[in-house]
Amino acid sequence: MDWKSLESRPGSFSKNFGWGDAPGLGLLHRVTNAVFSHGMKPVLRDTARKIIAQKADGDPLVPLNFFFYNLVERGDSYVVPDQLVLEALARDHDQSFDRLAMCALNFSRVGAWDRARPYQSHPAPWARRFVIEEVWNGFSWDTSKITSDKIEEFFASGAMDYGAASPRKFATNLHFLYQQSSLLGLTNSEREDWWSSALFLFLDRCIFDREISLKMSAQDILSFVETEDFWALTAADPALAPYAAFSVIEEYLDLGGPARFTNMEATGGTAKTPLNTAPRSGSPPSPKMRRENAKPKKPTDLTLTVVQRAYARAQRQVRNRQHAEWVKALYENRCAICGVALVIDPTGTTYSEAGHVKPVGDPFKGPDHLQNILPFCPNHHKAFDRGGVWINPNKGNPIVRSATDDTGFDGRRLELLSDHDFAVEFLEWHAQYFGHLS
Ligand SMILES: [Zn+2]
Repeated sequence: MDWKSLESRPGSFSKNFGWGDAPGLGLLHRVTNAVFSHGMKPVLRDTARKIIAQKADGDPLVPLNFFFYNLVERGDSYVVPDQLVLEALARDHDQSFDRLAMCALNFSRVGAWDRARPYQSHPAPWARRFVIEEVWNGFSWDTSKITSDKIEEFFASGAMDYGAASPRKFATNLHFLYQQSSLLGLTNSEREDWWSSALFLFLDRCIFDREISLKMSAQDILSFVETEDFWALTAADPALAPYAAFSVIEEYLDLGGPARFTNMEATGGTAKTPLNTAPRSGSPPSPKMRRENAKPKKPTDLTLTVVQRAYARAQRQVRNRQHAEWVKALYENRCAICGVALVIDPTGTTYSEAGHVKPVGDPFKGPDHLQNILPFCPNHHKAFDRGGVWINPNKGNPIVRSATDDTGFDGRRLELLSDHDFAVEFLEWHAQYFGHLS
């Protein structure tokens, strides 16, 4: 998609649909529930229009043209459900809905309807380009850029062919939406949920747009997501995002993409299931606790849980990798067996490998955690994995041992650093497994 060549006409965005409806995009949440009151099924666009006109004093076309996805089927125009609709139906209005709605605006993929002009399929390339070109700094969002003045400046700079009669009003509206959605003050745990949901929504829309398909591999979809500037659009750390996204994409494919909504219909999974069924006593639970206590039953909840889990798992994998890096850095690459920090280049760069004392794979299932990780030089990593060298835990004063007695380190004391939080029980397991201890 060449976003820069797209015609951009703000059109009805300047009308104040729900912007002032505190808190946040509450009106959009209400009309979404009203339009999809019969569940996760397509609704005729004309029907949706009437419902919105009843519910909202604002322009019924704004949600249809900027936030929902439209599709023409045998001459009839429909709005179709996606992750945004799912989350509107699944829980009461909250900030995470508003944030996801902002994604829908920034993704700027709303399909087509009868008599739609070509540019209306991508109604907000300006919102999208503003984030990518102005707010994203390659690592995170520079939120100081999100002010009415800066937005207006961006449009006035000629960066894009912009046809609004009143850039000021327009900039103020966009800025207000950012403020309302609190997208700028995300905490880390909120980010986990929001980001996976955003990716699900993005994938839904790209599937509807036929730019990706469920037949593609997770890797190919990931490549597409990367070229579509998804990291920039969602302020995702590029060091973490590809891993997390891959995991989320796999979950998405497992659920059958948009087919997950069809599966829901069978059990009527569109009932309100507020997530605030917290225990009555004690201190107020954190949002995370609340989710765990909600005991998901309905498929709608289940899907949300899966979405959240995918990101959490990806994060865990990255954290685990960080454990390994952390251990190597803590010991400054000194091998647990020989005590040498191997120098690998003329500038004095040292190198080591992180080894799991109890292997993580089947059938051993050792933990991928600090407690089970030691730094080794490559030779001793290999020898330790095969049992040629081992470490006698020696009641907390570990002694390095070797199968041959001509090594300089046989009998060497291993100094475990207190920060490491290492568990000697794994040394015991290792020594026993290779028959060195009974
Ligand atoms: Zn070594």
